[in-house]
Amino acid sequence: MSEADEEWHVEQPPGAARTRTCDHLAPARAPAAQPARCEACLRRGDTWVNLLACLVCGEVGCCDSSPGRHAHEHAERTGHPLARTLKKGESWGWCYVDEVFLARTGR
Ligand SMILES: [Zn+2]
Ligand SMILES: [Zn+2]
Ligand SMILES: [Zn+2]
Repeated sequence: MSEADEEWHVEQPPGAARTRTCDHLAPARAPAAQPARCEACLRRGDTWVNLLACLVCGEVGCCDSSPGRHAHEHAERTGHPLARTLKKGESWGWCYVDEVFLARTGR
């Protein structure tokens, strides 16, 4: 019912030679919503393409298509492997360790 019950599974690409797995899904949840902006970019006066929210602590950072790649930097710095997109109309997630796409289970 609440966003805290959010569940994710690994998206299997069509025709993949092997089954993709991710061992980091257990703690995945939707933390309290943060403002949809990349603070690190704002401090530097940069702009971003899209934003990702960490599924462990909720920190928002910019995606790998953005110059700053701050979501990736956050994952490496903190060891929080999972993030989900904040792009309107999309709901995929990503594991920086296993490099697999995640999909929300259920809705
Ligand atoms: Zn993983
Ligand atoms: Zn950024
Ligand atoms: Zn985090």
